[in-house]
Amino acid sequence: MKKCLNCEMTIEGRSDKIFCDDYCKSSFHYKKKQGKEKSLFETIDKQLKLNRKLLKSFNKAGKAIVRKEEILKEGFNPKYFTHFWKNKKGDVYLFCYKFGFLSKAENGKSKYVLVKWQEYMNG
Ligand SMILES: [Zn+2]
Repeated sequence: MKKCLNCEMTIEGRSDKIFCDDYCKSSFHYKKKQGKEKSLFETIDKQLKLNRKLLKSFNKAGKAIVRKEEILKEGFNPKYFTHFWKNKKGDVYLFCYKFGFLSKAENGKSKYVLVKWQEYMNG
């Protein structure tokens, strides 16, 4: 005996069926898709929150410079950010919520300049 993948009712008749009807079939695929999107959202959300936490803890004074590897080894992922801000020089700061970072090479070492979101950045 086979059971419908969606509602788990026993399927009568043809043995190659995996859903009892079209409704169950589309409902199953819909839920599967929703699940995927939800877990993708959760992954992004989790990484953004970790990024914010790290940027905050490395930037207690409101401005700081850290070595890239130092923050990366804690789990920071620069591909995840909520928005960005460009200064007059054309440097693009990426932000995770209120905490921003700018990639920079200094004396041959890769660093991040950490900043906090300021009121004037809105303009
Ligand atoms: Zn069913």
